[in-house]
Amino acid sequence: MPRPIQAHIDLNALESNLHIARRATSARIMAVIKANAYGHGLLRAAEALAEADGFALLDIQDAVRLREAGYRQTLLLLEGFFDAQDLALVAEYDLSCVVHSVWQIALLDAYPRRAALDVWLKVNSGMNRLGFAPGRVAEAMEALRRHAAVREITLMSHFSDADEARGVSGQLELFNEVVSAYRGARSLANSAALLRYPATHGDWVRPGIMLYGASPFAEVSAQSMGLKPVMTLSSRIIATQDLSAGDRVGYGGLFCADRAMRIGIVACGYADGYPRHAPNGTPMRVDGQQTQLLGRVSMDMLYVDLSALPQAGVGSEVVLWGAGLPIELVAAAAGTISYELMCALTARVPVRM
Ligand SMILES: *Cc1c(COP(=O)(O)O)cnc(C)c1O
Repeated sequence: MPRPIQAHIDLNALESNLHIARRATSARIMAVIKANAYGHGLLRAAEALAEADGFALLDIQDAVRLREAGYRQTLLLLEGFFDAQDLALVAEYDLSCVVHSVWQIALLDAYPRRAALDVWLKVNSGMNRLGFAPGRVAEAMEALRRHAAVREITLMSHFSDADEARGVSGQLELFNEVVSAYRGARSLANSAALLRYPATHGDWVRPGIMLYGASPFAEVSAQSMGLKPVMTLSSRIIATQDLSAGDRVGYGGLFCADRAMRIGIVACGYADGYPRHAPNGTPMRVDGQQTQLLGRVSMDMLYVDLSALPQAGVGSEVVLWGAGLPIELVAAAAGTISYELMCALTARVPVRM
């Protein structure tokens, strides 16, 4: 029997979450599948999301794989091209590119062949990550418009606080002002803006996390928005230990029993992608009942509290996150976000559909 850990990827849930995005907007949907589709597997996610109007990702080789697999939608490279070689592939495979910096325009200028490239001009409206500063947009726009290799220009920006109290109004107003003089499609909204701020939808929305069934908001559950978890990480108990008061558990004795109790040893560790920094008390499910992590997560194993679960033992199923245990709760306990947990799933974890 193989080591019992597995990630179950529910492709029906992925498709159903796309429908929720669809019902929330009349804009075209650019499904964000960067980082191996947030850890869910690029090609299998694309297949479940095949009704999307486009896909956004980072790696040009992944975009090429999608084209070669037959996807004809818009494929957007979120960081654009990095060198002249990329540009040749961009032209050959008809990929759309974010253009966020002057050095990319210089690469375009040096590109020898005529082509018909669709570019997404990125405006820095306040996130200060990628994009032209508001005062530089006119210049960049001018350069792209007169460029022989450029076909269509879409105007885009990205929000820093769509999921937070600060919201989007400042960035939205600035963006609208900066681009008001130009025609061309607009794209701003990530999952949080798609769900909360219809005024940001424009022509293309770019949902990521909601498609994978996690809430972008700390205070609103995915379930309450009809989103279904796509990834369930589960394993089994492979040993148990009986503790007496004063016994310590694991490296550094991070947990110390204050009474007699029983714990289970779970075949899952940080080498599978479970966060090592998850503290005592991080939620976990054993045989369908909620319990908690105890002690420090090891490379290949972790400890679960079985005090309230006398029936549980070797072979009991343990859900680390997913069905019945929202990944956001585990992430919050571990001081991170669902995105990071999903992406961190490692290659050694067998995936089942
Ligand atoms: C990752 C990303 C998104 C998707 O964000 P979610 O919060 O996962 O919906 C959208 N746009 C850009 C530019 C991104 O980098």
